[in-house]
Amino acid sequence: MRHLTNWARNVEYSAARLHRPTSLDEVKALVASARAVRALGSGHSFNTLADTPGELISLEALAQEVVIDPSARTVTVSGGIRYGELGARLQAEGFALANLASLPHISVAGAIATATHGSGNTNRNLAAAVSGLTLVTARGETLALTRSSPDFAGAVVGLGALGLVTSVTLDIEPSFDVAVTVYEHLAWDTLLHHFDALMRAAYSVSLFTNWARDTVDQVWLKQRVDGTAGALPLPGQDFHGATPAPERRHPLPGAPAEACSEQLGIAGCWADRLPHFRLGFTPSRGEELQSEYILPRAHAAAAIEALRALAGRIAPLLQIAEIRTMAADDLWLSMNYRADSVGFHFTWKPLQPEVEALLPVIEEALAPFRARPHWGKLFHARASHLATLYEKWPAFIALAERLDPEHKFRNDFLARHVFGAGTQERRSEMIR
Ligand SMILES: Cc1cc2nc3c(=O)[nH]c(=O)nc-3n(C[C@H](O)[C@H](O)[C@H](O)COP(=O)(O)OP(=O)(O)OC[C@H]3O[C@@H](n4cnc5c(N)ncnc54)[C@H](O)[C@@H]3O)c2cc1C
Repeated sequence: MRHLTNWARNVEYSAARLHRPTSLDEVKALVASARAVRALGSGHSFNTLADTPGELISLEALAQEVVIDPSARTVTVSGGIRYGELGARLQAEGFALANLASLPHISVAGAIATATHGSGNTNRNLAAAVSGLTLVTARGETLALTRSSPDFAGAVVGLGALGLVTSVTLDIEPSFDVAVTVYEHLAWDTLLHHFDALMRAAYSVSLFTNWARDTVDQVWLKQRVDGTAGALPLPGQDFHGATPAPERRHPLPGAPAEACSEQLGIAGCWADRLPHFRLGFTPSRGEELQSEYILPRAHAAAAIEALRALAGRIAPLLQIAEIRTMAADDLWLSMNYRADSVGFHFTWKPLQPEVEALLPVIEEALAPFRARPHWGKLFHARASHLATLYEKWPAFIALAERLDPEHKFRNDFLARHVFGAGTQERRSEMIR
């Protein structure tokens, strides 16, 4: 197989083959007979987490089921479905998901595997909406887990290390409308002194900055119009001194705003407004890399000061940075595990060696705040350090060992960042 890359084209998968099975039986047979195997979602991660030296399996060609249970307020979907398609199907039936990431292009199974998130003080990440999932485990058998299963909290943010997620059940709620208003030029002092007030001002709040300019570039307020979150300024009024943008804005200076969801306070469907970017358009820049660090929200102001102190080194490599908040959950490897969080995201220029040289510096600056890196983006921290940040780390390792005793689902990334050095070398020798 030649030149299969991720979305950002900074990773060339080393898999021997890419399979697109059309039935569950085919998935089971592929996994059972493989010596090394991984699932590929929509390929929007920026590191080699999805890679394998063996068989890469995409679930894209499986029938994309969407089964709504109105009384249980759940929807059961195939793991390979993308949020964009799911959102349209839910909206057509009068239902919604509580939150979405910045883009609707990603698959449900790929997003939950890495604890992908949107923003909002009371919004948990996308994995926390999962109430059940079915895995095809190493022997090609199915394993169904629900919130009451002891292994459930370990399996949802599974990093693809436990099996292939073929079906996911998600919590839903009645459909709602959202209005997005963008404000510009927020003073840093205002942000530092009123962080909590700013971030709870709407259902979902995002701040965009390059860390070096005099003010925070943009504040995106996404407000539910069903009255479940606080009141916004009146149209045309300032927001904590930031002024309303006169026209639709892209977070990246100079990028075409037509790629972004509707703004200017024009209310509309949750599925079109909660992501920053529209399906059918390139999200973000396209030519980019990303990293993100998530830490307890109580440290937000101190972490902002620490990053501003590095602005001179960050800004030359940066396209834009984003600050968001997420509510705590109970999923073992979630970056939000038992911590109401703030996330510091970086959209880098496609300069991987320079970015990789800077990441340890950023990680050192954020280390006092126990920052957890986003599993799907670029980071440096090794397993020995990450193990100290997650209370349930040993339980996850034990779960992976139990579900995948032959280490079929492991790869170099997992050896480096999760299971510890040595595991993948042993595995590679077995494959040879
Ligand atoms: C432009 C852009 C914007 C982004 N915005 C956000 C954002 O707002 N918030 C955020 O948190 N992240 C964001 N991300 C990161 C992205 O959400 C994550 O990297 C996510 O994991 C990508 O999902 P995917 O379907 O592409 O998964 P992939 O990258 O294909 O795979 C990711 C992991 O999931 C596993 N996986 C995939 N499918 C399955 C399956 N069926 N069973 C088991 N494991 C599976 C893979 O093996 C791999 O380990 C963004 C990325 C891009 C490119």
